[in-house]
Amino acid sequence: MSLFEESPLTPWQQEPFHHLSRQLEQGHLPHSILVLGEEGVGREDFCQFIAQWMLCNAADKTQGYCGQCKGCQLFEAGSHPDYHLLEIEEGKTQIAISQVRELIQHMQESSHQAGWKLANITNIHALNESSFNALLKTLEEPQSNTLLLLQADQLQGVPATIKSRAQILKVGVADVSMTREWLKQRHDFFSQEMETAIQLFPTAPYKVEAFVENGEAFKSGEFIFDYAEVITAKQTPMEIADRWKDELENCIFWCQLMFHDVLLLQQSATKDDIQLKQQYEAIEMIASTVSAKGVMLLLNKIIEIQRLIKLKSPANLMASWQSFLIYSAQIAIKYKKLES
Ligand SMILES: [Zn+2]
Repeated sequence: MSLFEESPLTPWQQEPFHHLSRQLEQGHLPHSILVLGEEGVGREDFCQFIAQWMLCNAADKTQGYCGQCKGCQLFEAGSHPDYHLLEIEEGKTQIAISQVRELIQHMQESSHQAGWKLANITNIHALNESSFNALLKTLEEPQSNTLLLLQADQLQGVPATIKSRAQILKVGVADVSMTREWLKQRHDFFSQEMETAIQLFPTAPYKVEAFVENGEAFKSGEFIFDYAEVITAKQTPMEIADRWKDELENCIFWCQLMFHDVLLLQQSATKDDIQLKQQYEAIEMIASTVSAKGVMLLLNKIIEIQRLIKLKSPANLMASWQSFLIYSAQIAIKYKKLES
């Protein structure tokens, strides 16, 4: 019987898995692995796969886990005593030091199932300095048969002490053709939204799907139309700020795409050249109302707010968002595009 009829791994996750599989076979598996993968490549799923695979008791694991042994059953039930998942708790922006201490203690105990012990930290950027320091000891003096999976979307911001002690494993999509190929197998036909999303996220296939399936494409269209009405003074900034307050991070992302398209249109590009083709009318409305200088100012403001989000200090994000919309209305008046 084939236990591995269909691998849950995507094509771009195969190579990093086989790399680990070879290391395990040769007895060269490191104690800590820094798994790098941008949002939209299924990094967390990959790490879950690796964790289950390590805890699987099957004799031959070269193609993956078996899904049937006791280890697999415990893992799938979410109750494997030798697996410790560390993620940001609901409503928090950081992983608490108490969580890290608990994990370290867990890693020092002996294995319950007489096999490997696994720890999986879903985002090491969510650790603060004292958590890092606590973790460092575990990295420096690893117990035998322990594996620590440390996840991050990028290498930037990862402390040098971690980088030098962990093996770096990249999980990513090489180019847009891989994304397209994978999506083709999952979707009968590509809508215009899908095409747009592929252009937007060429190396993040899951993001493409989410963009289309969660109605983000549709919502982005509604938002951009609303925003164009702020620019043309048909709606007030506060109305829009309030209506979209639950989609704030998305709105900011959409704004960035939108301004790039506005600038393109102002440089005599056509509908075919822009990314958000479906929102052409609203984008054209903005392009013909605000001057290029005004659009640049708005784009800079958006990039600034995005930096706030990246820093994970969005305490005053809502205030920034409101003032951005007020600023937009002012810019539309101050930098009115002159009729040519
Ligand atoms: Zn198994």
